Amino acid sequence: MNKLNIAHEMTASLKWRDENMQQQKPIEDLDPFDIAVRQLEKAAKVIHLDSQALELLREPQQILQFRIPVRMDSGETKVFTGFRVHYNAARGPVKGGIRFHPEESLSTVKALAAWMTWKTAIVNIPLGGAKGGVICDPKKLSSGELERLSRAYVRAVGEFIGPEVDIPAPDVYTTPQIMAWMMDEYENIARKSSPGVITGKPIEIGGSLGRGDATARGGMYVLREAAKRKGMDLSKATVAIQGFGNAGQFAVKLVQELFGSKVVAVSDTSGGIYSEKGINFQDLLAHKKKTGSVVGFPGSKKITNEELLELKVDVLIPSAIENQLTEDNASKVRAKVILELANGPTTPEADEIFHKNGILLLPDFLANSGGVTVSYFEWTQNVSGYYWTEEEVYNKLDQKLTEATKQVLDSSEKLKVDPRTAAYTISVKRVADAMKLRGWY
Ligand code: GLU
Repeated sequence: MNKLNIAHEMTASLKWRDENMQQQKPIEDLDPFDIAVRQLEKAAKVIHLDSQALELLREPQQILQFRIPVRMDSGETKVFTGFRVHYNAARGPVKGGIRFHPEESLSTVKALAAWMTWKTAIVNIPLGGAKGGVICDPKKLSSGELERLSRAYVRAVGEFIGPEVDIPAPDVYTTPQIMAWMMDEYENIARKSSPGVITGKPIEIGGSLGRGDATARGGMYVLREAAKRKGMDLSKATVAIQGFGNAGQFAVKLVQELFGSKVVAVSDTSGGIYSEKGINFQDLLAHKKKTGSVVGFPGSKKITNEELLELKVDVLIPSAIENQLTEDNASKVRAKVILELANGPTTPEADEIFHKNGILLLPDFLANSGGVTVSYFEWTQNVSGYYWTEEEVYNKLDQKLTEATKQVLDSSEKLKVDPRTAAYTISVKRVADAMKLRGWY
């Protein structure tokens, strides 16, 4: 079988690596939506989920795919492909970010929309799950092109979004400025003020205090609860963080600030750095701003992203993208706790290996739910017109995440399943109950 055939076969759910026609070895399925469905099915079995409920949860309720023509600075028109997926609205209006990424695909958006459904359910906020995306490389777009693309995205989704329908937010490579343009475009169409249509906005136009670092901060509350159970002293812990975007950067900052842990390794798309002495956040941020990368940070040794994942540390925090911890490297991971700030960094095969090896994995839709939780607070403030202090936001976030973490760890112990499956059983049950009450099955 040649390489092209193998690429074609990547869409099937069972794949075979067929190197020299002598040895056939199953390889992992890395399609994000296939993974999301396998995770769901595993949990459905544990709770004996009704087969009709499972049928409803196996696919999104609605999918919108569209072409977006954008006038580039050169005067030419470039056509982009965009998506918005409503996964499940049984618990309330759907919610989830919009990702601008060159490798965006419908399968990724569907998986991320499914994970949003479990995420809003695990923290028990009255929202469903959605996700959107555009195939583009925002690093290659000027600010004007980015603004025109963002506004055109909102015109294309039209009535598919709205404060009582679907509330978008930032995700990979989308920013508060992009949220501001999108809100403005929506209000131009609706001809009324409507700040609750989108979250992650700048504070000046209806954003919430505490939204900026909410994903990482929420993850810290999850980590604190898990460390208590494990008897791990976080003030003595070493930490490796993959990714230096919104979640990764604030994780580097907050794990030092809140617990006094030592960050020994950090990476971004250009590679990683290691320093036994520890990496100071402010110095690293200044270096990144000056050079465009974490690589070359004074006093550090260059490592690869792969090496970072296999370091002997107490806590590993994948904060980049999907499929980083797989069957190929999971048995080499030496961390005691994995806090998934990224969405979907671990494959089901790697999950099994971690569980067998006694590594405590805090699953993505719990670990990174701080972002959508503060988004929910932002939407609540927008709709009521009454704004909270930063302290109120942090306290409410802490309460939500602490409670969710306790429920997940309790259920993992009780059901004797890994924490991801335990979290699924809670979320899936909540969504299934809502569907049942609505008479969907
Ligand atoms: N994109 C973020 C996530 O994956 C935030 C979503 C939101 O705030 O609605 O959780």
